[in-house]
Amino acid sequence: MNPIQKRIAEINQRVADLQESSLYFYLQPVDSMDGAWISSNGRRMLNLASYSYLGLLGHPYIEEAAQEATSRYGTGTHGVRILAGSLPIHEQLEQTIARFKNAEDAIVYSSGYVTNLATIPSLVGRNDVVIADKLNHASIVDGCLLSGAEFLRFRHNDMADLERRLQQVGHDCGKLVVVDAVFSMDGDIIDLPEVSRLCRQYDALLMVDEAHSLGVLGETGHGIEDHFGLGNVVDIKMGTLSKTIPSVGGYVAGSRELITYLKHTARAFVFSAALPPAQTAAAQASFEVIETEGERVETLRRNVDLFLGGLQERGFDTLNSETPIVPIICGSDERAYQVARLCQEEDVFVLPVVSPAVPPGLARLRANVTAAHSEADIEHALDVLVRAGTQMEII
Ligand code: PMP
Repeated sequence: MNPIQKRIAEINQRVADLQESSLYFYLQPVDSMDGAWISSNGRRMLNLASYSYLGLLGHPYIEEAAQEATSRYGTGTHGVRILAGSLPIHEQLEQTIARFKNAEDAIVYSSGYVTNLATIPSLVGRNDVVIADKLNHASIVDGCLLSGAEFLRFRHNDMADLERRLQQVGHDCGKLVVVDAVFSMDGDIIDLPEVSRLCRQYDALLMVDEAHSLGVLGETGHGIEDHFGLGNVVDIKMGTLSKTIPSVGGYVAGSRELITYLKHTARAFVFSAALPPAQTAAAQASFEVIETEGERVETLRRNVDLFLGGLQERGFDTLNSETPIVPIICGSDERAYQVARLCQEEDVFVLPVVSPAVPPGLARLRANVTAAHSEADIEHALDVLVRAGTQMEII
């Protein structure tokens, strides 16, 4: 067996072993949805694994906008944006995102992952340095690697370590610092006031991935700058259209010059087809709904407090989360699988995250709370988690 075949066989074996012991929880189909409840394999389950933070998935106004756009423009586009693929609704969405993010202009790409993969290498290359938090999302890591820039990482949310990295770099090269706003496995928030201060002091551009903070942080869901009351301190404001915004796609908002530059140099923009009409219109309608139904952001915040507070009172370790992403630390991979199994047996849809996605020994359930949960849903989830956690001795 050559090494490639060996690698394929090893992963297949791992999947088969888990399936055999009923500990395989991935790729489960969601058949239908009713608020925070889903049906999966014919079972009605409370969903603790949704990214639809404001509960916008299934919103009638958004669905209508998507259907209308399909009737008008069809199911696809004529190709890449820069040639025949641009539609008026792309421009409209970019202007909406720019306004929402307090920026001059914006660019949309076909996914959040692609946004990081395309944007970072278009900004930095062989003679530059990119500095990233150790817990940044995989798409940022991949973008940094693809760029060919010198790739330095600092300890998670450790500002002294970031400063050491910035000091280590020569004066003449381009410097880009990239961080997540909310970390996708731990649910904690980057120390943006200090990161932005250091970037200014050391003349580095700052890029922040708001995949999990758009619609979540800030009084009205506008994101991390509002959360810290900072004004416009992020140069490259990246986000996705697949979480709070129930569509698909990614964006960068920033100065007009930055966006013009990206629209002519980012390879996944120049060489890949435009976002389809339905997804573009759905995203546009979603930003409108966030503005008109501001109470959803408040409901989400109340639910986060209820769920996180409830878990902590009951003795669970939730790391430093203060957002809808709630890690429930279980320890070993095996223990995380077993806690997930016990929860799913009681119809709570929550998934385990194990190594190598998280460090060994810090395997966890990754529970998400949304604005679609009722107080009763959260109480029910807590009861089930307590039973499972007690049985597996994590509390
Ligand atoms: N950045 C972060 C922080 C993410 O968590 C994700 C998705 N998990 C992405 C980027 C990629 O976004 P998308 O799923 O829209 O491609």
